[in-house]
Amino acid sequence: MTKQNMVVADVNKSGIKMAISMAVSGSSVYSPAAAQKPPSVPGAFISISEKKLVQNLDMNGGSRINTWVDSMRASSPTHIKASTFSDAQNSWIMQHPSALDMFDQITIASKGKQIVMFLDYDGTLSPIVDDPDRAFMSEAMRATVRKVARYFPTAIVSGRCRDKVYSFVRLAELYYAGSHGMDIKGPSKGSKYKKGTQAVLFQPASEFLPMIDEVYKALLEVTKCTPGALVENNKFCVSVHFRCVDEKRWSELAKQVGSVLEGYPNLRLTQGRKVLEIRPTIKWDKGKALEFLLESLGYANCADVFPVYIGDDRTDEDAFKVLRERGQGFGILVSKTPKDTNASYSLQEPSEVMAFLRRLVGWKRMSLRRQFRMRRRLEEIKMSLLN
Ligand SMILES: [Mg+2]
Repeated sequence: MTKQNMVVADVNKSGIKMAISMAVSGSSVYSPAAAQKPPSVPGAFISISEKKLVQNLDMNGGSRINTWVDSMRASSPTHIKASTFSDAQNSWIMQHPSALDMFDQITIASKGKQIVMFLDYDGTLSPIVDDPDRAFMSEAMRATVRKVARYFPTAIVSGRCRDKVYSFVRLAELYYAGSHGMDIKGPSKGSKYKKGTQAVLFQPASEFLPMIDEVYKALLEVTKCTPGALVENNKFCVSVHFRCVDEKRWSELAKQVGSVLEGYPNLRLTQGRKVLEIRPTIKWDKGKALEFLLESLGYANCADVFPVYIGDDRTDEDAFKVLRERGQGFGILVSKTPKDTNASYSLQEPSEVMAFLRRLVGWKRMSLRRQFRMRRRLEEIKMSLLN
């Protein structure tokens, strides 16, 4: 096993220090020798009644619940008033122009640099659908991503469990970062960008697996009375989907989620598009995953790399922010409505993502052909001078 470095130290609410190690290995990943195990809090919700916890949340956590729900609403395009929509849209689009309209400027900026593609899955490569288990990508999108991976190192970065997102994408030549980057695996075959013979595998939160499983079961139990609520086990995090829940019941469901979370100080909650997600309090997110993957590909301190990250969710903002701070490449937010974002450009929906990716492939092909023709012409000139 090759230990690369120690990355993160985090002090959680209980003042317990955790260290996370990063490793690139063909077999295993996480060596917690120096790390204290997160205390296996055996679910305080078991010893304190759910009713009592919900009452407690009513008194003390009401504003927190409202914040979660408001934040989730802000990610939901249905809540923009029609009258203000066009003004807001116009001003926002000026600041975050369409990546399709800016395509030439983007390719000029990438000149002489290695483009590395990072793609979120839900809402980016596939439409958001009511049943998360049926968020399939189209064959046309799959063929497009396959072509992208032929020309650029490509990673899928998703909040989903890695196995789940792989079952949707089914392209072995890609990098996959599941559970918001907490579960990373390199191409299993056919990538010219794979470094050496070692498989990249990184799981910084493996110590949390039993706790996540426990929380998943608790959430299933506590949410079973809310029609439409769907709890998904993403291995290193748990998602509670609100997409099929009547909006009048969102606060009630958020309260139920909060009641479970109360018993787990080592877990935190984040909001996404009609989803609340519970994950370990380690300092690891899609932005860290992007940096890890760039390092794994050998571009850690490289000035000639041009990472492009396309995503639609609040959790993608961590990656957009990393790109802004690095001053390399750019983020593209997939959204039909104005949103506060660190992305530089926008695309409205997955069909536009596909159009952008196809254009990128077409541009790269043309560039390679042009380079080939120039090289051949130079060879011909050299030969004629020698003769
Ligand atoms: Mg998404």
